[in-house]
Amino acid sequence: GEKFSEEDQRLLEALAQQAAMAVEHARLYELAITDGLTKLFIHRYFQARLEEEMIRAKRYHTTCSLILFDIDHFKKFNDTYGHQQGDIVLIEVAKLIKQTVRETVDIPARYGGEEFAIILPETDVKGAHLVAERLRKTVESFDFPGQEKALKVTISLGVATFPDHASVKSILIKKADIALYACKDSGRNCSLVYDDSFAEKTE
Ligand code: GH3
Ligand code: MG
Ligand code: MG
Repeated sequence: GEKFSEEDQRLLEALAQQAAMAVEHARLYELAITDGLTKLFIHRYFQARLEEEMIRAKRYHTTCSLILFDIDHFKKFNDTYGHQQGDIVLIEVAKLIKQTVRETVDIPARYGGEEFAIILPETDVKGAHLVAERLRKTVESFDFPGQEKALKVTISLGVATFPDHASVKSILIKKADIALYACKDSGRNCSLVYDDSFAEKTE
């Protein structure tokens, strides 16, 4: 019940400053790992998390899956409707990913321009393929906001799983990528789990 002394006040000011700095650091960190356009994680963060999740899966003898996907004929989409309309699609696709995957568990990232990656911890081949198909159908049936009419877009997805297909990160990414290209080869708007027969075709 006593009045605060000047020393109390100095201490509280110092504490408040520390707290403000912690909040600012957290904000800057969040900003540094987030893609500006889509608000998904950036490529570098994706690489670090995949490494971590594979190590964790190894330690706990569990699975970890990776989905890589790419928008179909997106160059043509940009040429037809313009890059700003293309950017709207990227933003909307990112929202659809967030709605489709487990919040705070799965790790969705923008891999590159119009390529996305989703890390699915504790998810086996079957589970990952289900997620990929769910996302494919969600995108296929979504009406993307356009100038005059709703616009349609499809995606192709490749799935690879630790430890079934790879035990190191670079191979897991490569195999998800090979599966993705197998989808493109087979006509797009599909999802495929990696299979050794795909690799032979691309070699
Ligand atoms: P495919 O079905 O084989 O994937 O055909 P595609 O045209 O989508 O394939 P490709 O990878 O050759 O082209 C990707 C295009 O994506 C090129 C570029 O115009 C577009 N793109 C990449 N990043 C962005 C972006 O940030 N914004 C917009 N609007 N377009 C982008
Ligand atoms: Mg591409
Ligand atoms: Mg594409």
